[in-house]
Amino acid sequence: MTKHDADLDELRDRLGDRLLTGDEAMAPYTRDASRAVPDGAPIAVVRAESTADVSAALSWAHAANIPVSVRGAGTGLAGGANAYRGGLVLSLERMNRVLDVDVANRLAVVQPGLVTAQLDARCREHGLFFPPDPASARICTVGGNIATNAGGLRCVAHGVTADSVAALEVVLADGRVMRTGARTRKNVVGYDLTRLFIGSEGTLGVITEATVRLKPVPEGRPRTFRASFASVEDAGRAVTAIVNGPTPPEVLELMDALSVEIIEAYFPTGLETPTGAMLVGQTVGPDAAARAEAITRVCAEHGADDTGVSDTDALLEARRRSNPALNARGLKISCDVGVPIAALADVFRGVAGISARHGLRVSTVAHAGDGNLHCTVEAEGSPAGIAAADRVIDDITRLALALGGTISGEHGVGSLKLHELPWQQDAVALEVQRAIKAALDPLGILTPGRAV
Ligand SMILES: Cc1cc2nc3c(=O)[nH]c(=O)nc-3n(C[C@H](O)[C@H](O)[C@H](O)COP(=O)(O)OP(=O)(O)OC[C@H]3O[C@@H](n4cnc5c(N)ncnc54)[C@H](O)[C@@H]3O)c2cc1C
Repeated sequence: MTKHDADLDELRDRLGDRLLTGDEAMAPYTRDASRAVPDGAPIAVVRAESTADVSAALSWAHAANIPVSVRGAGTGLAGGANAYRGGLVLSLERMNRVLDVDVANRLAVVQPGLVTAQLDARCREHGLFFPPDPASARICTVGGNIATNAGGLRCVAHGVTADSVAALEVVLADGRVMRTGARTRKNVVGYDLTRLFIGSEGTLGVITEATVRLKPVPEGRPRTFRASFASVEDAGRAVTAIVNGPTPPEVLELMDALSVEIIEAYFPTGLETPTGAMLVGQTVGPDAAARAEAITRVCAEHGADDTGVSDTDALLEARRRSNPALNARGLKISCDVGVPIAALADVFRGVAGISARHGLRVSTVAHAGDGNLHCTVEAEGSPAGIAAADRVIDDITRLALALGGTISGEHGVGSLKLHELPWQQDAVALEVQRAIKAALDPLGILTPGRAV
């Protein structure tokens, strides 16, 4: 029996069957949805049911100096939730309750393992909704969304997850529990610790409760609009005009011709492949129909050759399925870059040039209204094929940075993008982040070696 086995008995005494061991039982908890591969098997998985369980697991890991990976639903695309060899996996999936819906203050208090779409559905019973809407909303958790500062389809109108979080309960690496933020609309007391934990990708603390902001469900039936363009650059210019125009929509997404083909093969909706790209989006509110028509006119002015407005959601559903459609084709070499909105046409032109130069096809879906692109490279599965595709992604990432953009708009850095971090952030900014990490987790047990 190793020292860690003996220590583990101590943790089992505290957690009972909330502690899982054995490769088969632990397998579903060891990796996320990215192509990052864990460096070995963990020693145990804790399926926490309370803040006290999280605190017990972390104080045990701290005393034993064992690395901990934190896991919501494991839909992350950056390798952030992957297990460590000989480490502890801390799963929040069982902490999945809505603790309060405070209609008068438009707030909800939830546990971190709650599935995002379930929170939204619960709020809708009260005429309210939870604005963050990642395409994975039906399978990811609110805690994971906060830890990655997730984006999604409605960001163009409501901002990212950070814009919907008022307060948090967090357990630190040594097991201490703290609270941040307030239920008020305004709160300027101390440093903004809520924001510090948002997007920290499991490296600074474990979120065990969140107070989130809600909005009233708009009146009337939403309208979905679409516009097909012969040129993806024209589609980019149309997006810039729409976002800067008087009637910005609730959702504004782009699928280029190759993505439409891939999505249609996986989830047929009768989508006709455009020559260049297709914009799809949604307007809401009593004047949704008129606003959707106005947006299609802007698209036509920017070269759209076919436009339409409908009151069904099928096109957006197709867009939501782009990730599983790409997975079904075995396509996983992708990026999550962001550019300033006015640079969209430039980035699309640049991506086409990079694809031609490398002789590899690239498909792009984008949360276009946010300037956030997911480009995926068609690559052979061999190590040489993967390396060639990675070179394409590197070039696209450098292009985005040259246009004033970012290496990650919403998925986070995790382990997959760690090498790109110094491309975007200067040495002092990196040092400051590592100092913050060291202050909160001096032994470096919490999600070590990732995100910063
Ligand atoms: C089909 C599909 C579509 C997607 N669409 C989008 C999209 O539109 N927008 C978008 O932003 N992302 C999208 N993603 C990525 C993913 O769904 C998001 O990153 C999501 O926020 C991850 O949530 P999760 O519960 O699965 O977290 P996990 O994958 O379990 O974890 C993600 C990160 O958060 C940390 N973490 C999780 N829970 C906690 C917690 N309670 N406390 C502290 N740290 C924690 C983990 O350690 C890890 O670093 C998509 C993924 C898929 C598979």
